[in-house]
Amino acid sequence: MRKPFIAGNWKMNLDSSGAVQLAAEIVKHSSAFQGIDIAICPPAVYLLAVGGELENSAVALGAQNMYFESSGAFTGEISGPMLRDVGCRYVILGHSERRHILGETDAEINRKIDAALAVDLNPILCVGELLEEREAGETEAVVEKQLSGSLQGISASQMSSVTIAYEPVWAIGTGKVATPEQAQEVHADLRRMIRDCYNAETADAVRIQYGGSVKPSNAANLLSQPDVDGALVGGASLNIEDFLGILAEAT
Ligand code: PEP
Repeated sequence: MRKPFIAGNWKMNLDSSGAVQLAAEIVKHSSAFQGIDIAICPPAVYLLAVGGELENSAVALGAQNMYFESSGAFTGEISGPMLRDVGCRYVILGHSERRHILGETDAEINRKIDAALAVDLNPILCVGELLEEREAGETEAVVEKQLSGSLQGISASQMSSVTIAYEPVWAIGTGKVATPEQAQEVHADLRRMIRDCYNAETADAVRIQYGGSVKPSNAANLLSQPDVDGALVGGASLNIEDFLGILAEAT
């Protein structure tokens, strides 16, 4: 039985007081949501302040990215040990905005996953196709390439710390959500790929979140799919009523 996992990706939004206030509100209501895992991923500059609000709560802290080296002359980068130092348990890696706007490759994402696992950070690995790739019937091939490229050399036992997020790029921030059937089809494909690469036990245990315009109004249908184990939520995680609504649907 996989525990549902809802993570909020705040992206490059909010200021320090807005971030702290939103975190405090989530914590205040979090005891109402039993039986699920919850994480919020604020911008890196607010991790420490938000982490302070999450102390002794069931809400975990996550980062939106990290570098694969642990320290040194890498101006502007943030390492896994630094994220651990400020209390992060999760790190989003390979988000489509990083792949498509900042040119991140599967090979770089693979090094980041390796580096995250080395310091006990739980990666949330994002995969997903562009609209033209879906229309060309390439969805399965695209996510397979992203998945296998990003997980090179990661062992079956390490996979117990990895969450996969299927995020069709055409659904991110567009209000155009995948249908539950479209999400289920890709999630089932991803689980089969994990089974083929590793084994049935690993595939049955890995959590696969859906991401892309999740809202309280569509969360229940998506989360009711057998291979959808939670959600990575962007825009709706910035609005307290919407985020609490999604948590309620997952509970
Ligand atoms: C995301 O950025 O991971 C995301 C899913 O965004 P949104 O929910 O806004 O589509």
